[in-house]
Amino acid sequence: MGEFDLIRRFFQRPAAAGVDVGVGDDCAVLVPTPGARWLVSSDMLVEGRHFLSTVAPERLGHKALAVNLSDLAACGATPRGFTLALALPRVDEAWLAGFARGLWALADVSACPLIGGDTTQGPLNLCITVFGEAPAGQALLRSGARAGDEIWVSGRLGDARLALEVFRGTVALDGAGFETVRAAMECPMPRLALGQALRGVATAAIDVSDGLLGDLGHILAASGVGARLDLDALPRSAVLAAQPADLQRTCLLAGGDDYELVFTAPRGVRLPDVGVALTRIGVIEAEPGLRVVDVRGDAVEHGLKSFDHFAS
Ligand code: ADP
Ligand code: MG
Repeated sequence: MGEFDLIRRFFQRPAAAGVDVGVGDDCAVLVPTPGARWLVSSDMLVEGRHFLSTVAPERLGHKALAVNLSDLAACGATPRGFTLALALPRVDEAWLAGFARGLWALADVSACPLIGGDTTQGPLNLCITVFGEAPAGQALLRSGARAGDEIWVSGRLGDARLALEVFRGTVALDGAGFETVRAAMECPMPRLALGQALRGVATAAIDVSDGLLGDLGHILAASGVGARLDLDALPRSAVLAAQPADLQRTCLLAGGDDYELVFTAPRGVRLPDVGVALTRIGVIEAEPGLRVVDVRGDAVEHGLKSFDHFAS
């Protein structure tokens, strides 16, 4: 199968609403919504770095788009479309069919059509760029947190890191426990509805991709504030809660790959109910720095850092 047959077969569909021209010409042509601003983000997935060769292609298709949509969610954007740049070692039709199935399924439920891309031969590598919109002035940024705001997180933290430790062989879980945390690692659901509902409510937001400490740290740095974080309040699955305390702490604070939203909001403000659990995990303080405390309010020494590709 040649390059253009491959694109037609797996990645081309009739243009969606709001797309004048999709896959098949030199550029996609999108219809902007009056008064809206574009929000654009890219994420690359490299085999061995961001995913294991053991992942099912359908789940990889899902995750490649999910991590990108998570950035739109963090900014409160409504998805409008995405491009897919793909390097493939060879044309494996079964692999491509699975990958495309996972990709299209999430694209469809997120109303985010595939509008173009690039396909080349090379080591397996996926790069998606997402395009979203938000009303002018309403995008959620990292820079709006103020002393006294409460810190909230959606869903649960730490399961993806626990799954990674099982793959690394440092932790053993029973079959059901492993499937729970593996699904968290391989099939994160971007919190798009929550992000959009937080427009005008949250003062700052970010998605947890590299670990809570680092990602919350980005909000603190951008906002020029500090925070107190309640370790015992961090929401976790029963599987993670059954692990030793130091492993729980690592997964919760520095796990990464969670794709939950962390946001700040003024105390007492009414939070939206979009069917996703929200947990209050701390408070913004004027004093710079991130102080992790236990249920008694005592400081927790953790020595943890979030993931950094170039950290030595
Ligand atoms: P060009 O040579 O003009 O850059 P290509 O030959 O690379 O275009 O691609 C042909 C068409 O197919 C373009 O519309 C491009 O956006 C689209 N395309 C290429 N690869 C992909 C892909 N992996 N997913 C979706 N669309 C793709
Ligand atoms: Mg061209």
